[in-house]
Amino acid sequence: MSHSDKKNNNDKRSKSKLGAVNPRAAEQFLQKKKRNRSVEDFVKGIIRGNRMMLSQAITLIESTRPTDQSKAQKIIEACLPHTGNSIRVGITGIPGVGKSTFIEALGKHIIAQKKKVAVLAIDPSSSVTKGSILGDKTRMIDLSSNQSAFIRPSPAGTSLGGVARKTRETILLCEAAGFETILVETVGVGQSETAVHSMVDFFLLLLVPGAGDELQGIKRGIVEMADLLAVNKADGDRQTAAKRAQKEYRNALHLMPLKNSGIQPKVLACSALENKGLDDIWKLLLDFQISTKKNGFFDKKRKEQSLFWLHEQIGNGLKDFFYKNEEIKKRLEEMEQEVLDGKRNSFDVADELLKMFLNK
Ligand code: GDP
Repeated sequence: MSHSDKKNNNDKRSKSKLGAVNPRAAEQFLQKKKRNRSVEDFVKGIIRGNRMMLSQAITLIESTRPTDQSKAQKIIEACLPHTGNSIRVGITGIPGVGKSTFIEALGKHIIAQKKKVAVLAIDPSSSVTKGSILGDKTRMIDLSSNQSAFIRPSPAGTSLGGVARKTRETILLCEAAGFETILVETVGVGQSETAVHSMVDFFLLLLVPGAGDELQGIKRGIVEMADLLAVNKADGDRQTAAKRAQKEYRNALHLMPLKNSGIQPKVLACSALENKGLDDIWKLLLDFQISTKKNGFFDKKRKEQSLFWLHEQIGNGLKDFFYKNEEIKKRLEEMEQEVLDGKRNSFDVADELLKMFLNK
C-alpha cells in the first residue's frame, strides 16, 4: 500500500459513523498543523510567553530536517530584538553532587521572587544514553509543573559543538519568551563545561564534602572557570566535613589569579535538600550581575561570546563542507590507510587534501 493510500484509509478511519476521532489520525493532523504554523505565529506566541510555542520552536532548532532548521533560524532572527534580558547561569558538578535537587530548589526560590526560570541542559552523551541529565521525567517534578518554569532536556547530537549550538539558540528563544533566569546544567566530567562557560554569564560549581583531598577528582580548569563554588549537602552529619571542604577550597582559590570579572569567587555551603543557603547564593548571583554590568564585564563577555559563536559556526560549517565532499571522503579513506601504514606523513596528507578541496 502506498503512503497516500495509507493516509486516505487513516483519514476514513479517523471518524466513525458516530463522529468519534481516531487518536492516531488526530495526532497526525496536529503534527501537520504544527509544521505549517508560520514563523510570525511562532514569534508572536513566544513573545507572549506561550510555553507550548516555545517548546515547538525548540523542536525545530533540534530537528535535522533542512526546512525545520531554516524556519528555526527565521524564528530566532525575529526574536533577537527581544533577547538578552536575563542572567544566564551554568551549573556543573560531578554526577550525584545534587545538581537537579539544587536546580529544583533554586528554581522554586527564583519563582517565589515572581520571576520566571528556564532550565536547560548540555549533555553530549545524551544521544547514547537517551538523555542522562534532565531526561528523566521524575526529576524536578515540582518545578516542571510550575507555569513560571520551563524545563528542557539536553538536545541529542552527534557532537558537543552541535549540542552546544542548539542550547545557545534555545537560550535566546527562552529569553524572548520572558524567562529572566536561564539555568544551564552540565555534567562535570569533561568538555561540556567549557561549552557551557562560553554561553553563560555566571558559572557555578557544585561540590560535595568528602574526606581527604577536596580538590581531587575536579579538574583545576573547571575550578578556575567558576564564579562561585558551593559545597552542597551541608546538612546532618556532613556539616563538619562541609565546613572543612569550604576552608580547603577557599585556600585553593587564594592561589588563583584574580578573574577578569574583577570579582573574587566565593565558596559557600548549602543544602539543596533542606533548602539552606540558597538565598545567599541567589543574592550573590544578583550582586554579580549588578557589579559586572557596572564595570562593563557583563556586556564585554557577552560580546566576546557572540564572536566566539560566530567563529565556531564558521569553523563547523567549513568542516562539514569538507567532510561531506564525496571526493574528499573517498581520498581521505585511502590516505588514512597510507598514514597508518607509515607511507605518508599526516601533515603532507592534510595539505594535499585541503588543496584538492580548494581547487575542486
Ligand atoms: P545530580 O546527579 O548531580 O543531579 O544529583 P541529584 O540531584 O540527583 O542528587 C543525588 C543524590 O543526592 C539524591 O539522592 C539526592 O536526594 C541527594 N542530595 C541532593 N542534594 C542534597 C543535599 O543537599 N543534602 C543531602 N543530604 N542529599 C542531597
